[in-house]
Amino acid sequence: MKRLLDAGGRVLAFGAHPDDLEVGAGGLLARLAREGCEVTMCVVAVPNRTEERVPEARAAAKMLGARSFILFEEKPARVEDIPMHELVRRMDHLVADTNPDLVITHSAHDLHWDHGLVNRATVSALRRTPCDLLAFLSSPEMNAQHRAIGQCFADITPTLDLKIAAIQEHKSQLARLDIESSKDLARAMGRISGYGYAEAFEALRVRI
Ligand SMILES: [Zn+2]
Repeated sequence: MKRLLDAGGRVLAFGAHPDDLEVGAGGLLARLAREGCEVTMCVVAVPNRTEERVPEARAAAKMLGARSFILFEEKPARVEDIPMHELVRRMDHLVADTNPDLVITHSAHDLHWDHGLVNRATVSALRRTPCDLLAFLSSPEMNAQHRAIGQCFADITPTLDLKIAAIQEHKSQLARLDIESSKDLARAMGRISGYGYAEAFEALRVRI
């Protein structure tokens, strides 16, 4: 297993909603944190049930060893209700504060409108920041349908259990989240990449 970043590396991950990051990249985020990186998990907006979902997001980030940040914490919101310039402005501030070596965000191929908006805003916010950029798809079903994802694979064999436990912290969403599908997908991606379990990413910008 190759190291993506040295210890002390800074990682900033954007998920449109609580649970997106855990499902799409939780195994890699946990691995980076375990390898000594400073990992910040940023949830852009919480559409509803904020009194439950914000603590769930914080508990899940803590489980993965990451810092939790909510970009629009002041009121419930859908990403599409936020003006793009305001979204990019807040991301700009967070990027400047965290000075990331690696950013992880939604794929432009994501079928969820809010997720696509977060991809656009992330790329815009990184216009002057020379960092690596990986993108994920936030559901096993989308991963199964789309070929663009899977240019690179992260070995998450050591952190699969943590990823699943972090997803399960989103108790208000458990009826919707299919834990078995996440495990099945990680196994399938592992078979493709030669790891026990893996997460697939799209490499938008990687410096070698
Ligand atoms: Zn989402």
